[in-house]
Amino acid sequence: MAPIAQPIPLQLGVPVANRRLGGGIDGLIEAEVERGERLDAMRAGTLASIHSWELVTAVDGPGTRLTVFFAGCPLRCVYCHNPDTMAMRNGQDVPLAQIVSRIRRYRKVFQASGGGITLSGGEVLQQSAYAQNVLEAAKEMGVHTAIDTSGFLGAAATDTLLDSVDLVLLDVKAGLEDVYKNLTGRPLRPTIAFGDRLRDRGTPVWIRFVVVPGWTDSVENVEAVADIVERWSEVVERVEVLPFHNMGQDKWDTLGMEYRLRDVAPPDSATVERVREQFRARGLTVY
Ligand code: SF4
Repeated sequence: MAPIAQPIPLQLGVPVANRRLGGGIDGLIEAEVERGERLDAMRAGTLASIHSWELVTAVDGPGTRLTVFFAGCPLRCVYCHNPDTMAMRNGQDVPLAQIVSRIRRYRKVFQASGGGITLSGGEVLQQSAYAQNVLEAAKEMGVHTAIDTSGFLGAAATDTLLDSVDLVLLDVKAGLEDVYKNLTGRPLRPTIAFGDRLRDRGTPVWIRFVVVPGWTDSVENVEAVADIVERWSEVVERVEVLPFHNMGQDKWDTLGMEYRLRDVAPPDSATVERVREQFRARGLTVY
């Protein structure tokens, strides 16, 4: 996920994002099931480890959205704002019916605002069976659906899952292989393959790219990202260029994890504008 919406830590249950309308895991009943049953339910997609949820406006897709943060992520992005979503054990087991009833409850809000649901994380595709069930249930209710993903586990998204996705928020964290690996600990190739697949399917995509001084902001790296995004231009509706900020630092400290960006300042406005211009030069719509 890109660092736009901030999930509400369960232990705190207090607002972090200023556009947040509600959140946490209030009202979601944690399932208590035996270990074997739990694994079966997770495989079947009727149970998942969920970090939190949040009702937001003007982030994570159009309109007012219920963003559900899945627990667990295979990447280790150095700028992650939500390192507490990296491990599945940091979530709570939430039955499918709980999420579905919450979507039903907000249906009129989604209709009135042109919003919907966004499945984020962590990495939503790490629990793809559950994600598919949630997305299908939302579509049956006529609710707009989005997934927010790095694309690294794109192969786990079945065509059936993607049939129930109206919009993909795809994080392209770097364009050069070595930069991507250094930043996330993982290879870039699966993200490119996923983007190619979305283009071939005609699935609308919003790209997100975070400008991190000294890490992702070189002209060469941004050009490489723009090269990748340009090949998907027929499905890319916008590119969101997001300046890095170190709001997540306290969480890294609390978790006892090494935060490597401690001395990195947010990019200056000239750098952010230069990056945006690199995308605009490809004819892309940039925010
Ligand atoms: S580590 Fe995972 S949750 Fe954190 S920013 Fe990267 S992809 Fe998103």
